[in-house]
Amino acid sequence: MTEPAACVFCRIVEGREQASFVAQGADVLAFLDLHPITEGHTLIVPRKHAASIGEVDEVSAVAMWSLARRVAAALGASGLRCEAINFFLADGAAAGQEVFHSHLHVIPRPGGLPRAFARDPALARRRLRDQLPAALRGGRGSEGARRHRGAASEAALLRLEHRRSAS
Ligand SMILES: [Zn+2]
Repeated sequence: MTEPAACVFCRIVEGREQASFVAQGADVLAFLDLHPITEGHTLIVPRKHAASIGEVDEVSAVAMWSLARRVAAALGASGLRCEAINFFLADGAAAGQEVFHSHLHVIPRPGGLPRAFARDPALARRRLRDQLPAALRGGRGSEGARRHRGAASEAALLRLEHRRSAS
C-alpha cells in the first residue's frame, strides 16, 4: 500500500472506495463505470496496481480478458439493450486514458444509436449502480440470454457480489 492510496481503482480494490461490483476474481475485479457511456458499462480492473497494460502481469492480463468476455455474456443475458459489445482499453494519455491503473471497458451497444465514446450524463444520474448488478445476476430470459446461453451459464459461475453505495 504505497502508491495505491492515491489511485482511485486501488482504493476500490482495497474496499476503501464504494463501487458497484459485477464480479470479483482472484486477480481481477469488474465494477460499473461511474460515468457510463451506455447502461451496463463495466470496467475490468487488475487487483495489482499497474499504470499501463504492459506493466500488468501476464496472469492478470489474461484474467482481464477472460472476465471481460464473461461479463459480456452476462450483459447479453441481463435483459439490457445489448446488441453488440465494445471492448476498449486506453493505454496512455494520448489514447484517452484518464485513470492510470490499467482497465478494460466493456460497453454494451444497443442497436440504432451512434457508436460514440462519449459519457452519457443522464445515465450517471440514474441509480443503475444499485440495480444493475442484480440484473446481471438475474438473466431475464431475453433473446440475448438464448444467444449467449453457453457463456451465460459460465458467467453464472462467477462469484458475484454487490456492495451497496453508501451515498
Ligand atoms: Zn491503482
